[in-house]
Amino acid sequence: MSIEVRNVTKRYGDLAVCDNLSLDVPAGELVALLGPSGSGKTTLLRIIAGLEVPDSGSVLFHGEDATRTEVRDRNVGFVFQHYALFGHMTIAENIAFGLRVRPRATRPSEREIKAKVADLLKLVQLDWLADRHPHQLSGGQRQRVALARALAVEPKVLLLDEPFGALDAKVRKELRRWLRRLHDEMHVTSVFVTHDQEEAMEVADRVVVMHQGKIEQQGAPHEVYDHPATPFVLQFLGDVN
Ligand code: ADP
Repeated sequence: MSIEVRNVTKRYGDLAVCDNLSLDVPAGELVALLGPSGSGKTTLLRIIAGLEVPDSGSVLFHGEDATRTEVRDRNVGFVFQHYALFGHMTIAENIAFGLRVRPRATRPSEREIKAKVADLLKLVQLDWLADRHPHQLSGGQRQRVALARALAVEPKVLLLDEPFGALDAKVRKELRRWLRRLHDEMHVTSVFVTHDQEEAMEVADRVVVMHQGKIEQQGAPHEVYDHPATPFVLQFLGDVN
């Protein structure tokens, strides 16, 4: 499902956190929103998610205006920095959760849910941990569960907000490969927020560099990296973070 952000502005007081911002994400693409802290990445992601309503402008999903559509109708999966797994549920139950809470009419049978969870556990290679609880897993494993859980409901759009931010460098690297692999298998349109340029360059099909609520530059990772279009991008990419 394609996403179109059209002339979106969001202000907090005098500050335009998103400043007349437009962005197209074609169906199936994995886009990274890259920029320093405070550049408006999370706000833009929350507007796409429907968790925040813009002051003006609109968000289109597959060509249809979704700006004021209820979040639950958007068919969106989320993964956040602080994995919100349910501590009292097993890993398998966590992944099944989004399916079990569906209204009866669209809820798969228990057998279908079990099969789906088994497939997802295999995909993230954690089938051997199905009956454990989150606290028994490492941070990286937990975040793989969070990815599996987000994908269980077959979202058309996957939104990730610094999903690996709390993890150490080695685990982050491994998770990048996971995200890329899951994305390639599931063909979900994905928007990924990060302040880590290496992460953006390695994972994304397209990198969108943000600064003060505006898009400074966007393009394939190597284009942005080899040809920074503005002094800001040049300086930002030059900073080792
Ligand atoms: P980023 O994700 O790039 O760090 P954010 O979108 O989180 O940027 O924030 C952009 C700016 O908007 C920051 O200066 C932040 O303090 C401000 N901001 C974000 N959310 C709110 C809010 N709910 N109320 C007031 N200011 C906010």
